[in-house]
Amino acid sequence: MFKLFIRAYPWDLEGADALTMLDRLQGEVGISGLSVWTAAGSVTQLRVGDVDPKIYRTRGGLLFVPTAEYYSRTRCKPVLATRLPVRYSISAIGAACAARSLEIRGIVSASRVGRLADRYPEFSCRSVLGLESRRSLCLSNGDVQSYLVGLIAELTERHALRTIVLSDYFIAWSDAFDPHLESTLPLNSLSRAVLSICFCDSCRRASTDAGVDVAQAELNAKNIIQRAVETGAGEGISVSGLLAENPALGAHVGRQLAALDTLLQQIRERSTCSVLLSGSALTQAAPGACGIDGVRADGFITPCIDGSDRVPGSKNPPRHLEWLAPAGAAVGERAAQLVSTFHEAAKQGFEGVEVDNLGVLPHAAFDGLRQALRFARRGA
Ligand SMILES: [Zn+2]
Repeated sequence: MFKLFIRAYPWDLEGADALTMLDRLQGEVGISGLSVWTAAGSVTQLRVGDVDPKIYRTRGGLLFVPTAEYYSRTRCKPVLATRLPVRYSISAIGAACAARSLEIRGIVSASRVGRLADRYPEFSCRSVLGLESRRSLCLSNGDVQSYLVGLIAELTERHALRTIVLSDYFIAWSDAFDPHLESTLPLNSLSRAVLSICFCDSCRRASTDAGVDVAQAELNAKNIIQRAVETGAGEGISVSGLLAENPALGAHVGRQLAALDTLLQQIRERSTCSVLLSGSALTQAAPGACGIDGVRADGFITPCIDGSDRVPGSKNPPRHLEWLAPAGAAVGERAAQLVSTFHEAAKQGFEGVEVDNLGVLPHAAFDGLRQALRFARRGA
């Protein structure tokens, strides 16, 4: 059956009417369950409900209290979020879902785990031009890998989460995508993509060990960025085309993608949960439309199968997909469009939709979601 999950932060369930809202989402809309953030990046949320504070802000981190034994093999120790939800822990939300026979999934930001990158610059991604990220940990780093494997093991074993949605699963100096980054010419998406390629010590070492000419890769990247900054060059060129023209840089990135696949295997060997990827390194390298109006390839959630299956539009299209939709897609005039989008998604074999997120989802969106979901379930 075509599924509908609502993304939620734990504090979204703190308001007086949060459980009533959950009942309505189940009874009136027919949702399948909640996907709840357990480890998040920084968040500033203008909340729709009658709640205090109206604007919720955290610099991110873990949204539950960790148990030390899961992190004994890493120097990268988890950091709690600056604001923890007081009333609703992950387990309490799990119990509220279980009482209603709703599924619960845990969302983990793999690389953008709030204050960790800020605290541990030695484990963060670094651009070819030398600056460490304040927000992205490098998933090629052994300490970061052990931390993430431990985190997912803890969520599976101690919080009984059977499905983990991994978000931000890429190796990237993501500061390159900051809209406030100042430069001579506005950076195009290609130069931002190259600027985001990680050249931290771990990445350099691993690529060198794999036989990649890292000095040449670095030179490739610096030249592309410099040309883009001076002349705006790079418009209309695809990232994959560029990497093919610069084989050393292509090999460096290829080694990083292989490291991500190896890390996924480690996670799956250590934990018994199913792991879904929300976006991925590969969709980041090849973003674009997927053939459904209003749906972008980087807004996908896919199961971890092998690499080729993760790329929408690739030769082997994914067998199972969910679409990650913003809450605004269900509001006002856009709600009418939602019916055909859900229907088309169901027809194309999507498993369902995850809507982001409960804290900003107005009651006015319920009708649109209900109709779209009914239509998709009938037509699928
Ligand atoms: Zn790195």
